[in-house]
Amino acid sequence: MIIQVQQQATASQIEAITSALKEMDINAKFLKTQKAKYIIPLSKSFPDIRKIAQLPYVQDVHRLTDNYKLVSAKWKIKPSIVSLNNGTQIGANSKVLIAGPCSLENEAQIESVAQQLVKSNITIMRGGAFKPRSSPYSFRGLGLDGLKMMHEICAPKNIAIITEIMDAKHIEKMYPYVDIFQVGARNSQNFDLLDALGKTDKPVMIKRGISGTIEELLQSAEYVFSGGNEEIILCERGIRSFETAYRNTFDINAIPILLEKSHLPVIADPSHGIGIRRHVPAITKAALAAGAHGAIIEAHPQPELAVSDGAQSLNLEELEDLAKEISLIF
Ligand code: PEP
Ligand code: MN
Repeated sequence: MIIQVQQQATASQIEAITSALKEMDINAKFLKTQKAKYIIPLSKSFPDIRKIAQLPYVQDVHRLTDNYKLVSAKWKIKPSIVSLNNGTQIGANSKVLIAGPCSLENEAQIESVAQQLVKSNITIMRGGAFKPRSSPYSFRGLGLDGLKMMHEICAPKNIAIITEIMDAKHIEKMYPYVDIFQVGARNSQNFDLLDALGKTDKPVMIKRGISGTIEELLQSAEYVFSGGNEEIILCERGIRSFETAYRNTFDINAIPILLEKSHLPVIADPSHGIGIRRHVPAITKAALAAGAHGAIIEAHPQPELAVSDGAQSLNLEELEDLAKEISLIF
């Protein structure tokens, strides 16, 4: 159940609602986001919702029994749109491309990608500064210096930045340089990180876990929303299956299902989804056709020299061609 509280309700008026609920044997959690105030009853059984709806300062009551509620399309029928400071809207009608290297490597690399983005009308750049790597001996990113470098190059070009955050302790130092915090597949169920990101006011894109179910992804998003941050984007990036002919099993089915189950915008990650450069454009178009609001694509000036994920990164010419094609189709 979700109880929407009128925006003007004061702390004591909200307290009056929760005490009235207690009298009905309902324990509840109050939460406030950038946009609204909610009370989430924690009990499994509920009395007549009309009784709750009549309480002063209650705006609306929704009966939901799923484990995820606030991110559910069952109560919020209108899709949510995430708006960035540079004017880009994710979840609106037009498809949004995000592109950039798997890992930030040096100034020249970042600059040439950023120039290509401007040329291709791509307004969000990806680039990992803190990299989760399966082996501790692989390149683990330039850290904050890399992120600052990216920000210096992107800000004058009005390009927004999405980058992965691996640790709640990094939020504060990364905050000034980030437009969207990316939660990677490996951290999809790092609940402390999700809780902490719920306390920020910047958008968060959560990737589906390596073996994560759709329900688990939605519950991860619920952590961020119930922590106080409604600016959330879901990302399908493929899951681990028995198939070894490609990197991951890109679950195109997840796209319409997520759009049906949740009001949050959905972005596809075809690069990690298939992991093979020559097939990335086809999978991107398929994901957009399936309803994804956009795609995040790995691109590098010289993919063969990339320190990570070169095999799935488009070169800049391929990126340009794909962006053109997408603008013609969608
Ligand atoms: C990445 O975006 O480079 C990345 C590490 O992705 P994922 O978390 O989906 O593996
Ligand atoms: Mn990568």
